[in-house]
Amino acid sequence: MSEPVEFYWGNAHLTGASCDFRSDAITTPSLGTLHAISKATLNDDVYGEDETTRHFEEHIARICGKEAAAFVVSGTMANQLSLCALAQAPCSILADATAHIIHFEAGGVANLSGATVHPVRPSNGHYLTLEDIQKHAAVGPVALERCPVTIVSLENTAHGNVIPLHELRAIKAWTDGQGIAVHIDGARIWHAVAGGGGSLKDLAACCDAMTLCFGKGLAAPIGAAVVGAASLVRRVKQLRQSIGGGVRKVGPMAAAAWQAVLDSFGPGSVDVRGVLRSTHDTARGLAEMWTSLGGKFLRRVETNLIWLDLKDIGVEKAAFNDLACRHKVRVRAPRIVVHPQISPDALYRLGLVFHEVMASKLDIHGSGSDGIASKL
Ligand SMILES: *Cc1c(COP(=O)(O)O)cnc(C)c1O
Repeated sequence: MSEPVEFYWGNAHLTGASCDFRSDAITTPSLGTLHAISKATLNDDVYGEDETTRHFEEHIARICGKEAAAFVVSGTMANQLSLCALAQAPCSILADATAHIIHFEAGGVANLSGATVHPVRPSNGHYLTLEDIQKHAAVGPVALERCPVTIVSLENTAHGNVIPLHELRAIKAWTDGQGIAVHIDGARIWHAVAGGGGSLKDLAACCDAMTLCFGKGLAAPIGAAVVGAASLVRRVKQLRQSIGGGVRKVGPMAAAAWQAVLDSFGPGSVDVRGVLRSTHDTARGLAEMWTSLGGKFLRRVETNLIWLDLKDIGVEKAAFNDLACRHKVRVRAPRIVVHPQISPDALYRLGLVFHEVMASKLDIHGSGSDGIASKL
C-alpha cells in the first residue's frame, strides 16, 4: 500500500495561502470545487453547446440583472474584452490613475482597443466622483483634434474602498446623457456588495459592462465574467475567440467557479454567506491594532484591504516585508490583504510584525537615529 499523500485542494496550509497577505488571488480552491468539476458537462463551448457553462453564464447574468454573461479565464481578460467591445476609435478611457487596467494589464488597452487612457486622480483620495469625471471628460462637441472620452472605467471596490451607490447612479445618469459608456472592473465587486455598497443588480445597473472575478477572494481555480447587454456579450465572445480565449471543454472551470460563488457569496444578488464580511471584520481588527500602536493608513479601511502608511513611521517597504518573512507571513507592503483562508496563527504573527515595527520605531525616536529601515 502506498503512503497517504497530502492533498492540495482545500488545504490552504499546505499551499501557503493561509499565511499569505499579498493578494486575495492567493487562495486555494476547496474540495467542494473539485467535486463540482467532476459533475460538469464536457461539451464544446466554442460551439455554445456546453450546458454547465451556458447555465452558469445565464445564472451570473440573472443575479446581475443583465441580459447576458460571458465566462472568460481571468479578470484581466474580462476587463480587456469589455473595453475592446465598448471602444470605437477615436476613444479615450477615463480611469482612476491607479487603475488595474492601466498598471497591471500589460498595456492591453493600447494593444487591443487602440484607445488612449485618461488617468485621473480622485479628488477625495479614494474613488472617482461625478465631479472628477465632469471635470475631465469634455462636454458637448469635442474639437476634431481631441480624443473624446467615450468610456469611463471604475473599480469597485477601489483598492478596498466601496464607491457609494448614489455616486455610481449619478455617474451613470450623467454619462448616459453624454453618450459615454461605463465599465466597472468588479474584480472585488463581491466585497463591494458584502461591504454594503449595493446588490450585484444595483451595481450592474450603473454600467454597460461589468466584470466579476471568481479566482480572487472566492478561490475558484480560474475564471471571470463579463455581464452586459446581449449585443455587447456577443461581441465580447467574438473578441475572446480572436485572441484564442475561446475554450472548448470549459465546463469544469465554470462548474468550479459556480461552486466558489455559492460557497463564499450565495445563490443570489446579495451576500448571504458572510464569508467575505468576516474578512472585513478581521481587517478592521488588524487596523485597530495598528492604530493603537500609533500607526496611520494611506486609505480608509472599509473592506479586506489595509494600506499601511509606512512613510509616516520612516519604514521601508522591503524592510517591512523582510520582517514579515522572518515571522513566516508573506506581505507586499504597504498593502495587507485579508482573505477567508488566512489562519488565526498568521494573524497572530502579523500582529507580532506590527508590534516589532512600532517598537523599533520608538527605539529610534528615543535614540535620535535617522530611520527604522537599518534596524529591521
Ligand atoms: C486582480 C484584479 C484584476 C485582474 O484579475 P486576474 O484574474 O488576476 O486577471 C483586475 N482588476 C482588479 C482591480 C484586480 O484587483
